[in-house]
Order: sequence, then structure tokens, then C-alpha cells
Amino acid sequence: MAHLLIVEDDELLRDALVAQLAQAGHTVASAANGALAQVQLEATRFDGVILDLGLPVVDGMEVLRWIRRRLLALPVLILTARDGIDDRVQGLNAGADDYLTKPFNMAELEARLQALLRRSRLPAFGGSLALNERGGHRSLRVDPVQPLAWLGDEPLDLTQREWALLALLVANTGQVVSREDVLAAWQAQPGDSGGSGGAAGSNALEVYVHRLRRKLGDSGLNIRNVRGLGYLLE
Ligand code: CA
Repeated sequence: MAHLLIVEDDELLRDALVAQLAQAGHTVASAANGALAQVQLEATRFDGVILDLGLPVVDGMEVLRWIRRRLLALPVLILTARDGIDDRVQGLNAGADDYLTKPFNMAELEARLQALLRRSRLPAFGGSLALNERGGHRSLRVDPVQPLAWLGDEPLDLTQREWALLALLVANTGQVVSREDVLAAWQAQPGDSGGSGGAAGSNALEVYVHRLRRKLGDSGLNIRNVRGLGYLLE
């Protein structure tokens, strides 16, 4: 369950949102204008924000930009009364994760919110590592979005699953990545039709780790199997 902030100046709607989401098991705080929202966001760590765009004192769009400057990863769902597409596009460009147009259905709001929170809980993905090697330096770079990776200037020939595994390991270097995290990342891949759960998934994971070790070759990187916990990139 999540700690949420509702920012909405319409008192009836605000109270309805607070009641609904509290009933769904969330801890819910609310603010009636943009300035009060900023005060709460500075004082408390939230897991997600539902933000009306048309707000008094400090406008919702301004609050959104302010959030993105400070709290890069905080999931924000915007609400807009105006059904002009401009608002939505502007909101998404300013860093909103999703939007709903008023009037909206409470069940849809909850579903969108759940999806947003689930995505934000996925482990970090991608990044780069500097490698010290005899006779020079190379880097391993893994694209966080597309299935691409490079060792120095050389592109690595990876399958979608090998890339997802490597992206997780690189983003979490020095920490153990659990088998469950890898399986969840695979299931989140477009076109991966599951079949990776349970014992079969664990066996498949061994095979992918083995292949990835081979493809990393003499880079000096090792994927260590930490018994009972998962994998660690060293
Ligand atoms: Ca409003």
C-alpha cells in the first residue's frame, strides 16, 4: 500500500478521492492548492501524487515542473478538467506519468494508479560501468530502454532477455539482484509471453546467466551466483 498525496481544489472531489483511496488501503494526505502541496512534498516522502492541473495559488503545471526538478522518480498522475489535448500533451511533456480527464471513473483511477506504482517499484534498469583493463580502459554501456549494449565500441549481440538481465545487473552493480527481480523484468518485456515463472524460470535463468558470462568474455566482469539470494555483478 502506498503513501499518496492528492492535490485538488474542488473540495467534494478531493474528499471523495481521499475516502476512496483510503478505503483501498492507502495512506492519503491532501492539499487544496499548489503551494500547500509543495509544503507537504518538502516535508514528507510520498510514493505517488494525484495532481489536478487547474489549481489556485500555484498552478498544477508549475507544481509538476517543480516536482520533476526535485523528485525525479516520484510517480505523478495528472487530472485535467479541460478536455483539450494540449493540456495532456503539455502535462506529459512536463513529466507526468499518466493522466485522467474529468469526469473520471474511480475504478479507472485506481487501476491507473496501481499500474503507475507497480512500474515505479521495478528495479532500476541500464547504465554504464568503467572497466580497468590491462593496457587501457573500456566501458560497458547498457541502454536502459532498448535492447542494446556495448563493450567499449563493440556492440554486444544480446537477446532481449540477456539484455534485460544485464541492464538489471549493471544498474544495481555491487548489490545482489534477486531471481524474482529478473523474472519480473522479463515479464515486463514487450513480447515476452511469460512462461518464466516457477522452477522452469529459475532453470532458464541459469542458462541465460551462463550465456551472458560467455558474451562478457575477457571484460573482467563476473556474474557471481550468490546462493539462495540471486546474482551479483563484480
Ligand atoms: Ca481544479
